[in-house]
Amino acid sequence: MTGQPALDRITLRGLRARGFHGVLAAERELGQEFSADVVLHVATREAAAGDDLTATVNYAEVAKDVVAVLAGPPLDLIETVAARIAEQALRRPRVAAVDVTVHKPQAPVPVPFTDVTVHVHRRRGDVGGPAAPYDVVLALGANLGDPRESLAAALTELDRHPRVDVTAVSPLLRSAAVVRPGARAQPDYLNAVALLRTTLPPRELLALCQGVELGHGRVRDEQWGPRPLDLDLVAADDLTWQDPDLTLPHPRAHERGFVLAPWARVAPHAVLPGHGPVAELAARAGEPGEWLTDDWWEAGG
Ligand code: ADP
Ligand code: MG
Repeated sequence: MTGQPALDRITLRGLRARGFHGVLAAERELGQEFSADVVLHVATREAAAGDDLTATVNYAEVAKDVVAVLAGPPLDLIETVAARIAEQALRRPRVAAVDVTVHKPQAPVPVPFTDVTVHVHRRRGDVGGPAAPYDVVLALGANLGDPRESLAAALTELDRHPRVDVTAVSPLLRSAAVVRPGARAQPDYLNAVALLRTTLPPRELLALCQGVELGHGRVRDEQWGPRPLDLDLVAADDLTWQDPDLTLPHPRAHERGFVLAPWARVAPHAVLPGHGPVAELAARAGEPGEWLTDDWWEAGG
C-alpha cells in the first residue's frame, strides 16, 4: 500500500429485488431475483469521534439506490448493473471507492449451478467517459422585478449550457406567496416547472442554477423572502441525495401545489420518489392559483 491512510469499510450484503435484466425475452418478461453486496470505502473516524451521521454515509439511502437499480430499467448485462450501482454509490461525496458484487442465481445456465456473480471495483475519479444523461425536474419561481422575463431568461441560460437540455416546460402559473406566520405580505409569484436532461452531476447542476439566480439579482438573505428568481431541483430520476447543500427529492415539493400542479401538467405520470404519483399529490394540494399561458418559452429564444 502507498502512504495514504487506510479507509474504513461499510458493507451492505444481500440487498435484493426482482429485476428484468438479461438478454432473453423470458428474462425481460418474467424477471428474476437479483441481489447485490456493496462495500463502501469511507473515512469514518470523524463520524465516530462526533457520533455524527452527517459525517459518514447514510447506508440506508445507499441501499435504496442499489435496490432502485436492481429493480429498475432492464439492462442486458449484470456487468452494467454492477457499474450503475457503483456510480450511484460514488455520487455520495464521502465514498472514495466501492466494491459491488451482483448475484444472478437464477441466470439461464443449462447445467446445475448455485450462483453467478460479477464483481467491480471503482474509485472516485476513474469514471469512464461522460456520465449518462438523466432527467431533472426543475421548479422555477419569481415575485420581484419582471418575473415572466426572468423565468424565460433562466430557461434560455440553462438550455444554452452544453450539458443541459430543456425538454419540456409547463404553463405559467400565478400563485399567492407563502409567507411565514406574521411576516409581511409579498407580491404574487409566477411559477413553472421544466424538465431538463443533463449529464451534469446534481451538485454541478445546482451550482449552475445558483449562478443563474445570482445573475438575476438574487441575494441570499431572508429564507422565504421575495425573490427575483428561485430555481429548485425537485427530483433527479429516482435518485435520493442527502447532503447539507442538496436534498433530493426536494424536501417540501410533496406539499407545494405550485410545484406539483405544473409538474403534473408536463409529466402526467410522474412519481415523486417516496411520496407517490404527482397528479394525486397535486389534486390533494388543491388549486394552486391561476394558469396564465402555455406559450411563454421557446428553445433558442
Ligand atoms: P428556498 O428555495 O427553500 O426558499 P433557497 O432558494 O434560499 O431556499 O435555498 C436555500 C438552500 O437550499 C440553498 O443554498 C441550497 O443549497 C439548498 N438546497 C437543498 N436542496 C436543494 C434542492 N433540491 N434544490 C435547490 N436548493 C436546495
Ligand atoms: Mg431555492
